[in-house]
Amino acid sequence: MHKFIGDICDGIGPRESGTEQDILAGNKIEDELKRFCDETWQEEYTSSPTAFLGFIRYGVLLVIFSVIFYWLSLIVELQWLIIDSSFILYFLIIAFILLLISVIYFILEVMKYHEIFDFLFKKKQSKNVVGTLNPTDEVKNTVIFSGHHDSAYEFNLFYYLKTVGVALIFVGYVGILVIFLMTSLKLIFYFLSINFFFFFYMFGIIFLFFLPITIAFLFFHSYNPVPGAFDNLSAVSIVLGIGKLLDENKSKNDFYPKHTKILLISFAGEEAGLRNEQAQTQAPSGNADIGVV
Ligand SMILES: [Zn+2]
Repeated sequence: MHKFIGDICDGIGPRESGTEQDILAGNKIEDELKRFCDETWQEEYTSSPTAFLGFIRYGVLLVIFSVIFYWLSLIVELQWLIIDSSFILYFLIIAFILLLISVIYFILEVMKYHEIFDFLFKKKQSKNVVGTLNPTDEVKNTVIFSGHHDSAYEFNLFYYLKTVGVALIFVGYVGILVIFLMTSLKLIFYFLSINFFFFFYMFGIIFLFFLPITIAFLFFHSYNPVPGAFDNLSAVSIVLGIGKLLDENKSKNDFYPKHTKILLISFAGEEAGLRNEQAQTQAPSGNADIGVV
C-alpha cells in the first residue's frame, strides 16, 4: 500500500483533474484492481474541473466592485458627487446584482457543489475507476469503498497563513453575507423611503476594513497541483488494500462476504468539486448493482 503511493507520486506526479496525469493514475489503479477484482472498468465523463475553485477570483472581484458601487451610492447621497439623485438607486442596484451573482456562486457552487458557473470554463475528460468483488452467494447488499486519485491545488491562504488562513475563510463568508444583507436592506429601505443613512454609512466604513481580506481571496489558490499522497492516495491505497485482503481471504476460506457485493472506486474529480460522484455506477456487463455515491 505504501509502495503504491510512492510509485504514483514519483512516477506520475501531481494529478489535476482532467489532465493526462489524472488518467495515468486511473490506469495504474485499474491495473492494481485487475489483480483481485471480478470485474473492473473506467467511467468516462466530461466536466469543467477548474470551475469550482476557478471562479473564486471572479466572485471576489464582484464583491470588491459591489463595495465600490455601494460607496458611490453613499457619495451621491452625501452630495460629495453632484449628479442626479436617481443614481443613488442605480448604483445600489448594480451593487446588489454583483453581490447576488457572488453569493449564488459561493453558496450553490462552492458549498453545495452545483455546476452553475461550469459553462464558463473549459470542458475536460476524466475517468473514474471501478472494481467489483462478487459475494459467494446471491447479492443482497452493496458496500462501496472509495477514494480519489486527482490531487488538489496549493492553497496559498493555508500555506502562508496557516490557521489564520482557515479562520479567514469563515470571516470571508460572513463578510460577504453581511455586505449582501446590508445592500439588500438599503435597497428595500430606499423603496420604502426610510432614511437610515448613518447606519448604512457606518456599514460602508466597516466594508472598507473588510476589503483587504477580500483581496487576499483573489490569491486563494495557485494552479500548481500537489502530489496528493495524503489527500487522497492514502485512501485509494486502503481501498486497494481492502480488495487485496478480501481476495486473499477468499482463497484461504477466511472471512469473505456471502451476500455483500464490494465496489472499490477511485474518483477522478473530487478536488474539482465532487464532479461525477453522484453518477450511477453501472458495470459494462450490466449486472452490477447501482451505487449512488
Ligand atoms: Zn481530497
